[in-house]
Amino acid sequence: MSTVIPIRAETASGCGDAPVLKERGQREVFCGLTGIIWLHRKIQDAFFLVVGSRTCAHLIQSAAGVMIFAEPRFATAIIDERDLAGLADCNDELDRVVTRLLDRRPEIKLLFLVGSCPSEVIKLDLSRAASRLSGRVAPGVRVLNYSGSGIETTFTQGEDACLASLVPSLPVAPPDAPASLLIVGALADVVEDQFSRLFSGLGFGSNHAPVRFFPPRHATDLPAVGPNTRFLLAQPFLADTARALESLGAQRLPAPFPLGVEGTTQWLQAAATAFGIDSATFDRVTAAGRERANTALARHRVQLAGKRVFFFPDSQLEIPIARFLARELGMQLVEVGTPYMHRQHLAEELDLLPADTFLSEGQHVDKQLDRCRAAQPDIVVCGLGLANPLEAEGMTTKWAIELVFTPIHGYEQAADLAELFARPLVRRMKLVA
Ligand code: SF4
Repeated sequence: MSTVIPIRAETASGCGDAPVLKERGQREVFCGLTGIIWLHRKIQDAFFLVVGSRTCAHLIQSAAGVMIFAEPRFATAIIDERDLAGLADCNDELDRVVTRLLDRRPEIKLLFLVGSCPSEVIKLDLSRAASRLSGRVAPGVRVLNYSGSGIETTFTQGEDACLASLVPSLPVAPPDAPASLLIVGALADVVEDQFSRLFSGLGFGSNHAPVRFFPPRHATDLPAVGPNTRFLLAQPFLADTARALESLGAQRLPAPFPLGVEGTTQWLQAAATAFGIDSATFDRVTAAGRERANTALARHRVQLAGKRVFFFPDSQLEIPIARFLARELGMQLVEVGTPYMHRQHLAEELDLLPADTFLSEGQHVDKQLDRCRAAQPDIVVCGLGLANPLEAEGMTTKWAIELVFTPIHGYEQAADLAELFARPLVRRMKLVA
């Protein structure tokens, strides 16, 4: 079947029109290089070559500590003093490094040159380098570039920049191609497999349109995109990627994000509605997952209900997770801070948040710390840089980066997501007792 039902946005109360405190001050976030840690696991024939400093190399090596035992699919071409002083030609050196790398690793089919603060400061043009190198190594290897620099970005934007750079390489589906569904955003393989089973239970791939995931597991398996492509965002931080897909004619299906039972159900429902899948089929296919997740969540609800949570802006997952904690676990939201608020992509999430939620966008870290200390929440979600000082002050914290490294999407992971919040609270109670 190839027809697509027009998208209709539902209106509801919630935080859709709520005022947002906008702050522009000092920020405490990781840079976009961090995304390499999960992206290199996802695209199995890709390689990420950071063009940066020793600091950049240390950041990704320590973030991906476990990978030192395997042959990693990332590395750093270090810009040293000679490059910075203009004594060496960075482009020649980069070409040499890439040639050596591709000779040694013939399994690489997609090479990302990843820009950093130092490469931007010395104005090294990586897009020209990528097209120059592509000319030499195509068609066996595609060379692309994006920026993971920490100047004005947050760590999840690394994935957005990476995927947006890949969109122009996607095959173009003609206007008369059958309708298809694209799931956009890197998901752990186990989660992707679970969603694949749910979509095929709904009839996608057989009676209905095919479902593809972006990024794919192999760079040689890129999904075609065109005017009959409908896409669901699996992550809330993919503004540039969504814009690039829309420029090819694809249409985003508005939905909350698939976190928790409610978010997952509404996310799947958005696809089912767009492709005309009847409600009896939808209920039958999703019933078991919903029931399992609700049962697993019940024991965490006992520990988390009534607990007060404060979000510092970090991963851009704050609003969907706050919605899950408030509505499915009964937690109270003291402040929900997010680095950027994409109102269009978050519209369904904002409608589901409790109407009096205190929302903030951007950061003035000192002022926000003052608000946090005054509120004395039960748990604080923040970056690593703030977690240790706050723990030393007696607060319980949850590292925001764990929410990105851990599989948390879908029915089967709903209880794991709840447990990420319950565990530090239980540990603190034991320490105090
Ligand atoms: S890209 Fe910038 S912020 Fe990130 S590790 Fe390198 S120097 Fe630091």
